[in-house]
Amino acid sequence: MKTGEGILNELGSQHHVSQLASIGQIAAGIAHEVRNPLTAVKGFLQLLQQDQKQEYVEIAHSELDNALKTLNNLLQVSKPDLEDEEFQSIYLSVELESIINLFQDKMYEIKVITDFKDTDSAIYGRKTQFKKAFFNLIKNAIEAMNGVGTLTLTHCVVGQEVMVTIKDTGMGIPEEKLSLLGTPFFTTKDEGTGMGLAQVFSVIYQHGGNITIDSRENQGTKFTIRVPRHHNKSHRGVRNLNVLYEETYTIKEFFLENQKLFEDRLLTEATNVRDKIEEIHNIGSINLLNNAHRLVLYVVEGREHELISFAKQEGRAWARHSLTLAFKLEWIQAIRRTLWDFLYNFYKLKNVEIDRVAFYSMEKSINELIDQFLTYFFINYTKYKDEELDKQRLLVENLSVPIIPINSDICILPLIGAIDEIRIKTIQDKVFAEIENRQIQTLIIDLSGVASMGQVGADNFIQIIDGLTMMGCTTILTGMRAEIVKKLIAQGNQLLKRAVFKGTLQLALNDVVFKKESLESIIEK
Ligand code: ADP
Ligand code: MG
Repeated sequence: MKTGEGILNELGSQHHVSQLASIGQIAAGIAHEVRNPLTAVKGFLQLLQQDQKQEYVEIAHSELDNALKTLNNLLQVSKPDLEDEEFQSIYLSVELESIINLFQDKMYEIKVITDFKDTDSAIYGRKTQFKKAFFNLIKNAIEAMNGVGTLTLTHCVVGQEVMVTIKDTGMGIPEEKLSLLGTPFFTTKDEGTGMGLAQVFSVIYQHGGNITIDSRENQGTKFTIRVPRHHNKSHRGVRNLNVLYEETYTIKEFFLENQKLFEDRLLTEATNVRDKIEEIHNIGSINLLNNAHRLVLYVVEGREHELISFAKQEGRAWARHSLTLAFKLEWIQAIRRTLWDFLYNFYKLKNVEIDRVAFYSMEKSINELIDQFLTYFFINYTKYKDEELDKQRLLVENLSVPIIPINSDICILPLIGAIDEIRIKTIQDKVFAEIENRQIQTLIIDLSGVASMGQVGADNFIQIIDGLTMMGCTTILTGMRAEIVKKLIAQGNQLLKRAVFKGTLQLALNDVVFKKESLESIIEK
C-alpha cells in the first residue's frame, strides 16, 4: 500500500507512469481480444483462396462481428466522462453481461456464475458511467483472484431498488483497510492507479444508490450495489419537440426535414433496441433507422400497398436472420409513440384546431396502418419459418428414401422408421422417378426397419407396388414383420399377385443377385 506522503509524491512522476500503465493494460486487452478473431479471419481468407466455401465466409463474418463488438464495448468503457451524457433507462444485467465479455482472455481458470433475476427492471442514469464502474469492479475481482477462482454476479430487485452483487473468491481486504477503499490513489498493487473504486463510489452516489463491501482475508470480497429502480412510465402524454417547421411544409416534408431529430427521439424511446441496432445491421444488413423512416412516411401518406409489401419483405428478412420478435415489437411501438409526438408538434405549429371527428379519424387510420404493418410482418415471418421447416423436412425425408443400386437393373430400398401419410408420398415420388431414370428392373424393398405403418400408409404402399408393376418393375418385399403384414392384409390380398416375397434381404440378394437365379424361377417356386 502506498500511504501518506507516498500519495503526494506519486502525484508527480509516478502517477503519470501508472496512468500509462493502465492505458497499456487496456491496449493489451484490445490487442488480445481483437487479434484472435482477426487471425481467424485471415486463416479463413486463405482457405477461401484455395476452396470457395460459403461456410468460410460466414465464419469470417461472425469472427469480424466479435472483434467489432469487443472494440465497441471497450470504447464505451474508455470513453471520457461526458458531463452532459443524457440520462436514460439502463438494464444493469445487460451491461454486466457485455462487460464480462471484455475479460474473456482472463477467464480460463476463473469460473463465472451469473444469477440475473428481474432483468426487465431498469434504473435511470448515465450508462457509460455504469459500464465503467462495472468494468472497474470486475477488473478488481479478477485481479484479486490472481487468475484462479469463482466470480459470482447477481442481479435482482429488492423493494424499490435494483441490487447487483459482484463476489470473488480472491485475497480479500484486511479490515483496517476497508475504510480506505474509494479514496483516490489508494492502491495495494504495484501497477495500480487507485482510481477504480473512486470512480465506482462516485457514480453510485451520484445516482442516489449505495454500496457495501463484505470481505474476508483469503476468502473473498463481495460488493453490493443498490440503485433506485426506474419506473418506465408508459403513459407520458405528448412531448413538445424542438422541430424544424415552415408553414408551407406538407406532412411528408415535415418528416423529411426532421429526420435527424426523429432518429434521436426514436432511439430514446427504444432503450433496449438501441444497443442492438449495429448488431442487426451487421447480421442482416438491416438498417433499422432507415426502415423506420420508410414506415413512417408510408403511414402518414397513407400508402397502404407499399406499406404491406414492405412489411412482407421485412418479415421475411427478419425470419431469415432469426432476429427476435419481441425486439421488433418494441421497436415498432417506439416508432408509434415517436410518430404521435411528431404529429402533435406538426399540428400544433400549423396552428389548426382539429375537431374531434377529424382527430379520431386520423388516429384510427394511422394506428390501423401500423397494425397492418405488424400483421403482415408477423404473417410473413411465420410463413418463412414454416417454409424453412418444410424444406428441412423434405430434405430429411428424401434422405430417408435411399435407393441403392446393386447393378444396372437391380436396386434396394431399405425403409426405416415410421411410414406415415406424408412420408409415403415422398417415397412414392422418389421411387417412381428413380425407376424411370435408371430403368430399374427389380426393386427390393426391405421393410425390416419399419417401426410402424398406419392404415393410410399401408393403403398407399400397396398403390406404390401397383405403380411399380405398371412400370414393368418387379418388386421383391423382404423383412415383413407380423405387425406390418397385418396392416397390409387388412387391405385385401392384391399384393400377393404383384410382388415376390423373401424372408430377409439377405435371402433376396442371394437369390437374385449372387445366384443370378432368374426371376421367373423364383416366382414359380
Ligand atoms: P487499483 O485497482 O488500481 O488498485 P482500485 O480503486 O480499483 O485501484 O482498488 C483499490 C484497492 O482496493 C486495490 O488496490 C485493492 O487493494 C482493493 N480492492 C479492490 N477491490 C478488491 C477486491 N475485489 N478484492 C480485494 N481487494 C480489492
Ligand atoms: Mg482497480
